[in-house]
Amino acid sequence: MKLPEYHVRLPRLDPEGFKRVLRERRASYEPRFLSGVWRFEELLPRLPSEAIVTLAEGNVPLYESPRGARYAGCDALAYLHLGMNPSGSFKDLGMTVAVSAAKAAGARGVACASTGNTASSMAAYASRAGLNAYALVPRGRVSTSKLAQIYDYGAEVVEVDGSFDDAFARLDGTNDGAVTIVNSVNPYRLEGQKCAAFALLEARGWRVPDWVFVPGGNLGNSAAIGKGFREALELGFIDRLPRLAVVQAAGAAPFARAWSARADLVPVVPQTSASAIAVGSPKSWRKALYEVDASGGVVIAVDDDAIDDAKAAIGAEGIGCEPASAAALAGARALRDESVLRPDADVVAVLTGHTLKDPDAILRIHASRPRYEARAL
Ligand SMILES: *Cc1c(COP(=O)(O)O)cnc(C)c1O
Repeated sequence: MKLPEYHVRLPRLDPEGFKRVLRERRASYEPRFLSGVWRFEELLPRLPSEAIVTLAEGNVPLYESPRGARYAGCDALAYLHLGMNPSGSFKDLGMTVAVSAAKAAGARGVACASTGNTASSMAAYASRAGLNAYALVPRGRVSTSKLAQIYDYGAEVVEVDGSFDDAFARLDGTNDGAVTIVNSVNPYRLEGQKCAAFALLEARGWRVPDWVFVPGGNLGNSAAIGKGFREALELGFIDRLPRLAVVQAAGAAPFARAWSARADLVPVVPQTSASAIAVGSPKSWRKALYEVDASGGVVIAVDDDAIDDAKAAIGAEGIGCEPASAAALAGARALRDESVLRPDADVVAVLTGHTLKDPDAILRIHASRPRYEARAL
């Protein structure tokens, strides 16, 4: 199906006045302002208010982490915990806009290919909207928690042999336009998702961090967060961009390779235990590349051991996240080792999913290593 075209023209806003309006909206009980996405409605596609489907997404904590800073070897590090969203992952920020747009357009159903979190989020919002939802997932590669959520929220599950990429190809190839695809190729997803950048800045009193680390799989999140920062700059909310660091798992790192070689992306067969970033042919790589370069950022890869270690460190601080999220902290440490990240850097690592998203991974990590010594950090 051809995706709907739209264009968000950024309005002219008085930056200080708009920041005040945002503070007032945070204190209001108006249903759409309980959402950390729709609170930024001037910066989003215009939709009729009766079409808006929200679960009060986007109100997530920014946790200061002195131990994370020590782990990465820099002065200051905080986690923007997007796993604290209604369905337990960042996908809700974009999904509220994509499903609302599908509802406004009179779609009968929505569909996606997913390693689990996109489908969980889609299922929740589609059911709230009264739309049918179809999830194509790679057989045997989705955690029990995610699969349970998809069923619980009432979507139909189709298991496809192979990886996420095979599930996506199947979805793309069989859709005759009857349903709206809500993968991050849907432009409305990125519009909602960019609000993570606004929320991050808002939570820091609009103080710009030096670096923002984001795990990268299909690369919609990296592209959207980069777009959000650019728009914040264009609107005069901030006076410089943070550098964007996209972190891939070494076994699923076609973007890191393309970025280093300044070459086109060559798809790979993904192989990593961080299932949410097990994507071999990322669809948004050109958009993400634009944002990385616009911000003076980097793309790197870290191996599964480094991800597991970082995940244990985040857990040992009482915060927790799913394995793919921990790539952000592992990436900060790797970049410090390469002396790209300076010791006085002020860093935000984006945690993309909740710790209960993948309990089997947690048990595996802790079975193979001595109890993580929190005091050692
Ligand atoms: C989807 C997801 C990612 C990857 O995000 P992309 O936009 O596909 O790059 C990372 N972590 C978690 C927990 C996710 O659900």
